[in-house]
Amino acid sequence: MQWKGRRQSSNIEDRRGMGGGGMGGGMRFPGGLGGGMGGMRRGGGMGIFGILILLGVCWLLGINPLALLSGELDSGAGGGGGYVEQPQQSAGGGTLASPQEEELKEFVATVLADTEDTWNKILPEVGAQYREPKLVLFSGGAQSGCGFAQSAVGPFYCPADEKVYIDLSFFDELSRRFDAPGDFAQAYVIAHEVGHHVQTVLGIEEQVRKARANMSDSEGNALSVQVELQADCFSGVWANRAHQERGLLEPGDIEEALGAASAVGDDTLQKQAGGRVVPDSFTHGSAAQRTRWFETGYRSGNIEDCDTFNASNL
Ligand SMILES: [Zn+2]
Repeated sequence: MQWKGRRQSSNIEDRRGMGGGGMGGGMRFPGGLGGGMGGMRRGGGMGIFGILILLGVCWLLGINPLALLSGELDSGAGGGGGYVEQPQQSAGGGTLASPQEEELKEFVATVLADTEDTWNKILPEVGAQYREPKLVLFSGGAQSGCGFAQSAVGPFYCPADEKVYIDLSFFDELSRRFDAPGDFAQAYVIAHEVGHHVQTVLGIEEQVRKARANMSDSEGNALSVQVELQADCFSGVWANRAHQERGLLEPGDIEEALGAASAVGDDTLQKQAGGRVVPDSFTHGSAAQRTRWFETGYRSGNIEDCDTFNASNL
């Protein structure tokens, strides 16, 4: 990917070495999850282990685990979106980032900037106005508008505060543990998260949250798959525009993105975990579905082709 020397986004919030995992223990739920105290008041329902399980289920690109949480918990809070507890500065100070990690930060800021250019242009084409999201870099754990999350949940997007959260060490994991190396594999992950933000800006996230309230678990899972595959498709749309309009891609980049999309398919993850593949429990889509929807978006460059909710065949 031809990323060096390009514009870097100023929407990066660098919280590495602050709060979170550095705070000793790191498992705190200050003020309840999502929407201030709402989560805790309703909290008989879920409790800390339920939350852990939910996070566990959605880990990895599970980006919407917290959307799920906020959807569930905010609803009882009456207007809870947007609550963010500022992380406290740990007394020990921040960790000094290595030069490699600083370069990774520049990379993330460059990809984010390109998504801004892309979506600022595309959304008016469909009669909407883009709001640029913030991207929070954290280490260990982070307080978000959707609750506290540990790095283990993987990168995620929180619709309540419209921020993407990434622990840079995830990219290491993507390359080694999931065998999906390459800068464009990383760019795909960022673009997927930004895709969830686009869903929020377009009002799709809200519709899904409302619909999910009256659904069974398996219906809810099926809906989650549609949400995730659309974010993959949006990621492909971004790749198309970045390539067509700014020549960002190099040979092999799309293969890297497809490798990452496949590596984080639910069936791949379930197999890796040693279990059977159980389609009904899918929340993100299979490897084949994820790569197919990324490709759909990449080939067309048009968000109208990303209607996973009305597609006859996912
Ligand atoms: Zn996602």
